[in-house]
Amino acid sequence: MKTLICVAFLLSFWNTSYADKEAQSTILAIDDARNATTLVTKANNIVNGAHSNCPQIPASDIPQFCEEPYKAICANTESHRSSILGHLDDIRKKSEQQAMEFIAKKYSLTAGDELMQKLKSTGLLAFGDQNLTQQYRDDFFEKTRELEASYSEKADKEFQESHFQIIKVNLKRAIEASSLPTEKKQKFLSYIDREQFTSSDNIFNHKQDMKYAELFGRALQICDSDGLKPLAVADDTDQTRAQGNQTLLICSGRFAFHTKDDLPIEHLANEFQVAAHEMSHIMSYHWEPQMYRGLRKCVQNRNASQIVSEYLQALKDNQSYTEEGAKNIEENKTAFVDDHLEEYTPDFWAKGAIVQYFKNEGKSLSPTEKLNFLQNAYGYFCGSPESGDHPSGKLRIEMMGFDSNVRKQMGCTSPTKSPSCGL
Ligand SMILES: [Zn+2]
Repeated sequence: MKTLICVAFLLSFWNTSYADKEAQSTILAIDDARNATTLVTKANNIVNGAHSNCPQIPASDIPQFCEEPYKAICANTESHRSSILGHLDDIRKKSEQQAMEFIAKKYSLTAGDELMQKLKSTGLLAFGDQNLTQQYRDDFFEKTRELEASYSEKADKEFQESHFQIIKVNLKRAIEASSLPTEKKQKFLSYIDREQFTSSDNIFNHKQDMKYAELFGRALQICDSDGLKPLAVADDTDQTRAQGNQTLLICSGRFAFHTKDDLPIEHLANEFQVAAHEMSHIMSYHWEPQMYRGLRKCVQNRNASQIVSEYLQALKDNQSYTEEGAKNIEENKTAFVDDHLEEYTPDFWAKGAIVQYFKNEGKSLSPTEKLNFLQNAYGYFCGSPESGDHPSGKLRIEMMGFDSNVRKQMGCTSPTKSPSCGL
């Protein structure tokens, strides 16, 4: 039964035609990266999406979602997360093993633990002929990455050819449906129109090309040398904004954990929030504070106390709490919470894009299937702590779950526990 529901949806999904097909990922050089710390912090907070094969969610979970969205979204996420990370580890191990066998065969060496250790050593430890050792090692790393890339290839292509466009179209619909003035809408729409996408594998395959130098550095930093970290980032810098060539970079690790049994809808759901959020950084609070007065007021009223108390708790957990620091935060509470708007505003657009998706391509989804979609899309927030600029996963999920448009889509009729925050 559950398979039938998924397959039925899958068909309607593939038959839909999308208005926006023009943007393919021609990757342009990016000259001016925002500072590395911000990017890493940003990336660290968008770890691994949960995934599942259309699990049957009892209808009773819908009222639970309406009452306590965090609980409903995060029901099984810990096991999803560890299974994804475990799956990526398996890919690494399998690929290294096969690459070693390949090298052993190529150079008529004996494959085994000793050779493996030598190949993995950093270059300080040469064995036999140093040049030859370097050659073994280069071949080994190249082969390993080639094998690892084969796992992400299908999902990467699927994202490039279809999902990126679906997310883009719905982000544009969310902008159009917003209360922004017309000229601001036009500006934001053109940013999203010109947004490009690349995966870390694509970057690594073009590493000799100087025009990818900046993105190559970014991919190494965010995705690791094998690209297998399940993260994503966008280069929302002054320069990329001015030139209109912002690129969404998704590490191949996010694609590699999809198996052949995964459905496109699951893959789309897994990437939807992350990709839409990252793409929306180009129209975030940092760039357009005056556009978000309503959202700012709502976040300040609704979440300020919780943000501060969660942050102080996080400091205690990290043993970096001081009385003076706490006093400083309390005294500058408004500014401290304002910093979080840099993340709340892209979350606002990502949530809007999901609502548009539910109204359009996903209109035949039942509330249960929509909840399943949201679990896949927001699962990676479960358990993530307040970080000083990123709100906790709980607050981020509640901002989405208590949103009036989301609740309408989910068929929630009970009164909301928290206000819905608009622009
Ligand atoms: Zn962000």
